[in-house]
Amino acid sequence: MAEVMLQFTHLPQKTPEKRPVATRRADFEEIYKKFDAVAARAQSSRCSQCGIPFCSVHCPLSNNIPDWLKLTAEGRLEEAYEISAATNTFPEICGRICPQDRLCEGNCVIEKGFESVTIGAVERYITDTAFEQGWVKPIRPLRELPHSVGIVGAGPAGLAAAEALRSLGYKVTVYDRHDRVGGLLIYGIPGFKLEKEIVIRRRNWLEEGGIKFELNADVGGKLAFQDLRARHDAVLVATGVYKAREIAGPGSGLKGIVPALDYLIASNRMGLGDKVPAFESGLLDAQGKRVVVIGGGDTAMDCVRTAVRQGAKSVTCLYRRDRANMPGSLREVTNAEDEGVVFDWLAAPEAFLGDETVTGVRAIRMHLGLPDAAGRLSVDPIAGTSYTVEADLVIKALGFDPENMPMAFNVPELTVTNWGTLKVHPKTFMTSLPGVFAAGDIVRGASLVVWAIRDGRDAAAAMHEFVQVSAGMAQAAE
Ligand code: FAD
Ligand code: SF4
Ligand code: SF4
Repeated sequence: MAEVMLQFTHLPQKTPEKRPVATRRADFEEIYKKFDAVAARAQSSRCSQCGIPFCSVHCPLSNNIPDWLKLTAEGRLEEAYEISAATNTFPEICGRICPQDRLCEGNCVIEKGFESVTIGAVERYITDTAFEQGWVKPIRPLRELPHSVGIVGAGPAGLAAAEALRSLGYKVTVYDRHDRVGGLLIYGIPGFKLEKEIVIRRRNWLEEGGIKFELNADVGGKLAFQDLRARHDAVLVATGVYKAREIAGPGSGLKGIVPALDYLIASNRMGLGDKVPAFESGLLDAQGKRVVVIGGGDTAMDCVRTAVRQGAKSVTCLYRRDRANMPGSLREVTNAEDEGVVFDWLAAPEAFLGDETVTGVRAIRMHLGLPDAAGRLSVDPIAGTSYTVEADLVIKALGFDPENMPMAFNVPELTVTNWGTLKVHPKTFMTSLPGVFAAGDIVRGASLVVWAIRDGRDAAAAMHEFVQVSAGMAQAAE
């Protein structure tokens, strides 16, 4: 069936259809429709089956992309699902929210001249279909082990590790301070990129496989970290990064200037049917307001597009670099522009105006200078270019740092890096505390879901080795 492939020379790239702007601006449903079977087969057949697949090399999970594309093109979807699921715990989630333009698709060899294979959309299609067809079975370990592991954090890193360890037969308990499973997948990333049912479906699947969740469990607060260590043979810390970077400057304490995650969590909770007093009082609701979002990453993009859906009067994004040098996905910028967001590139806030409540942002024009050691261009203000953007709600989306580790867990022996992230051995993922491992954003700093999954899977393998070696040594000593 090899002749089915290599169709890229005459078959153009086709991404899944987007819902019309007018409808999608009015709700929080995903904007991309699912491929139908015909489109998924055709788009998969564009792959040239490279000997060295750069798509896989640039996928953090080293997914076997050419294999599942070929199987999809041949209509062998269940096999495609098995191969996709072997390297990725949540393929349908990555297919939706990975910045593919910077990862697999951006490195597809046919990208030059023919536009890449639509890898993410096919990956999503395969696993969504597998769920619909009942091919996704609950985890059933070959044997049950007597050992237990505790995982702090029910985000993608913690959940990927939980799945891998449960598959090996461990008793797995995941603790989270929130009342729902998913970390930023449930409370950070809005439904128009990832519908909540997709995350809930995975929670149910993990529970059916025997993974236990203890929610509303604030480790380091109500639940002492050392008690948790005593309960389990090994512990994984996958708590993410949540301390919002602040903006200094006159007026930064005015009412109506809010952190991005407070704003997004409130919006996601409202969508899930919760009562959110700060939203209902208007503080975290953009309806009818002139909204200014400060920042240029994924979080800023999610805020501007949430504000549009809440019925903001206008939405402006202020970013100090230009479009080509922003950290967020360009696909999301285009989506935001289509939905009516105004991007004010090369602009930074100088001061916030207003008496008690914010009424505007005084901004200044920036220019790009020489690159630093990491290759990032410096940015400097241009004297005499200040101007005012009117605003009733200002959302600060400048990124996140780790929360006060190690004191948040009250264990001073837990070593951190200069950036406040947890220090782990690069191969074993173990922290300075024996039997305590760490993965995801709390180790890397703010990153991507696909990297969190990769780290969770790798840390799980290292924990397995640690527990089995420790158990063997204990047996030998008896
Ligand atoms: P998290 O997802 O943050 O999960 C950590 C969990 O630990 C949380 O549930 C938290 O409640 C829990 N926790 C923390 N402290 C404690 C404690 N003391 N006790 C108990 N539980 C605790 N990445 C992409 O790839 N694509 C995107 O489109 C994208 N969009 C994003 C949009 C936003 C708004 C944000 C903020 C991030 C986005 N990211 C995106 C980044 C991505 O969400 C993160 O890199 C990823 O979720 C990190 O996974 P994690 O498991 O390490 O941490
Ligand atoms: Fe691409 Fe992400 Fe899927 Fe890897 S996991 S193939 S980077 S969409
Ligand atoms: Fe197929 Fe592109 Fe990957 Fe080559 S790089 S195997 S063409 S998806």
